[in-house]
Amino acid sequence: MFKVNENYAKLPGSYLFATINRKVKEYQAAHPEERIIRLGIGDVTQPLAPVIVDAMKKAADEMGRAETFQGYPDYEGYAFLREAIVAGDYLARGVQIGIDEIFVNDGAKCDSADLGDIFSLKNKIAVCDPVYPVYVDSNALVGRSGDWLKDKGCWSNLVYMPCTAENGFAPEFPEETPDVIYLCFPNNPTGATVTKDRLQEWVDYARKVGALIIFDAAYEAYISEENVPHSIYECEGAKECAIEMRSFSKNAGFTGVRLGFTVVPRDLKLDGVSLNQIWLKHQEIKFNGVSYVVQKAGAAVYTPEGRAQTQAQVNYYMNNAKVIRQGLSDAGYTVSGGVNAPYIWLKTPEGMTSWDFFDKLLETAHVVGTPGSGFGPHGEGYLRLTAFGSYENTVEAIERIKNM
Ligand code: PLP
Repeated sequence: MFKVNENYAKLPGSYLFATINRKVKEYQAAHPEERIIRLGIGDVTQPLAPVIVDAMKKAADEMGRAETFQGYPDYEGYAFLREAIVAGDYLARGVQIGIDEIFVNDGAKCDSADLGDIFSLKNKIAVCDPVYPVYVDSNALVGRSGDWLKDKGCWSNLVYMPCTAENGFAPEFPEETPDVIYLCFPNNPTGATVTKDRLQEWVDYARKVGALIIFDAAYEAYISEENVPHSIYECEGAKECAIEMRSFSKNAGFTGVRLGFTVVPRDLKLDGVSLNQIWLKHQEIKFNGVSYVVQKAGAAVYTPEGRAQTQAQVNYYMNNAKVIRQGLSDAGYTVSGGVNAPYIWLKTPEGMTSWDFFDKLLETAHVVGTPGSGFGPHGEGYLRLTAFGSYENTVEAIERIKNM
């Protein structure tokens, strides 16, 4: 008789953004006259850069001609894109990565969940708290996270690494030694980063204890400070202990186009096997590649015009981040993030819970944020605002919050 995966039943409550959407919908239905401004979800709003649109049109034309038509792409991605990635993202920063170490995907989310397929259920997983929920939930679905402890608001088998105002929202080494460590810098949701020296310490730690680091660099394009690493492979020895994930979603506005890549170095040999070969096998079994049109769009990002046009979009969002940060601190709020990331992490006033402050913001300023508690127990007492809105909406939202 059919049995469903019992781990689905263990997932706590409804998905964070579904709850937010329901609350916003209900409020809007009751107050149709109010114009709600959404600074909650991490989705971009600027249209695709012209050079990317041109590349997609040209690639679509090629698909319509017998001489240039393309069928299934390579599992790892077309060489033209992987070469552009290697040159533009790595060699340009002095990091040696081979094209056979790059695995193109349809955005970082799937791989951030699927990488769990290649490690044993027995591994102890360490995550930052607060954290991008996919790392936690994907491990929960296979039973690796253990049981959901309702009273504590956490999973029984996970090692949580608190990211608090006291440690600058950058985790300490955990007390319990993990086998897999998820790190994301610049961070979603706190907007925090670590220095290259600190990341080197994480690499040294992982090598010492024999752990794998899964490094999520989806927001690398937003780094503005000098001593913040863009890739974990800027650290010595990282190729022996780390997998890196990148995305085109936030640096080039591809949230609706879907493109990203994962780097699995050849030198990454843990438990006696090459993870590069295992990941290739995984992709051959589970993935049929990314469309030619989308990969051509990705390659256009690395052209000089692509660089200039996408950088202009990042600058636009980071100007919004400045407006949010400055406006809220002028109004007396405690804020962090927004310097190397499009996220601003706001301390709720007067000890309010994240959801109480979410409701107050919605009902009084008609602005939508994301409750910090949705990202983990140490997110309680915080709210995340994103810089991905339009400039006009961002300015108006901050004025409304100031006048609250
Ligand atoms: N990693 C982090 C930290 C994110 O915040 C996101 C999206 O918001 C992703 C990965 C997934 O990005 P995508 O699947 O759009 O490439």
